[in-house]
Amino acid sequence: MTTVPSLEVQGLAYAYPDGTQALYGVDVTIGRGERVALLGPNGAGKTTLVLHLNGILHGGLGSVRVGGMRVDPKDRKALREIRRRVGVVFQDPDDQLFMPTVREDVAFGPANLGLRGPELDRRVEDALRRVGMLEVADRPPQHLSFGQRRRVAVATVLAMEPEILVLDEPSSNLDPAGRRELAEILLGLEVTVLMVTHDLPYAAELCPRSLILSGGVIAADAPTLDLLGDAELLGAHRLELPFGFDPSAVRPRV
Ligand code: ADP
Repeated sequence: MTTVPSLEVQGLAYAYPDGTQALYGVDVTIGRGERVALLGPNGAGKTTLVLHLNGILHGGLGSVRVGGMRVDPKDRKALREIRRRVGVVFQDPDDQLFMPTVREDVAFGPANLGLRGPELDRRVEDALRRVGMLEVADRPPQHLSFGQRRRVAVATVLAMEPEILVLDEPSSNLDPAGRRELAEILLGLEVTVLMVTHDLPYAAELCPRSLILSGGVIAADAPTLDLLGDAELLGAHRLELPFGFDPSAVRPRV
């Protein structure tokens, strides 16, 4: 039996209005349930690619499909569904949390989809439980630690039951305990994950597969531990392992 991939990007090329060509023909397919890291130096095109997944950027060449559905910014109804399917967790949780309580923040998206009453409560509580934040549901987000706010930001997206969870630098600004807790949560989710990161050990721990985007093209697409073991490849794309980190000692968690 074949299942529809969570994400299919074909021949995606894009230039910004000022003429800067950011993507030169990107092809990527991510199967349902895969966890994939998107690596690459600054200016590689990672943000530009992510902004195409939910139709914020468009107008170039090629196509993007999410769960088989084409991202078509001209079709407003389809775009709403695409935005539900692609759950982007921004680097700064404070860009995502703006309601008086955690519960209201997590309810915001599903309420917009029309959910009400017990169905809405169930969605919110499920999402908060999955990130271990149910007990803070009635607190204001700004009273939580940064790591807790990031987990709530993940819950706001999970409450939409997305096809793919896109995380922008999920480990940034977390202390070691917060980093480990988030890793455990992400490993426990049965959702397709695309994780943009400069944190190569985090990619090694969480993502069996990695892509290197460099100069607007996919320069490598391989098992993460193979990529991280290739010093020449990493050097060519300005990627550096932390001092003392040995990828061959990592046990990949599938
Ligand atoms: P990354 O996320 O990998 O750092 P970006 O997608 O932000 O890379 O950038 C890719 C290229 O597009 C870079 O050359 C960058 O300078 C350029 N770029 C990004 N945003 C804009 C913009 N709004 N207008 C013009 N060029 C841009």
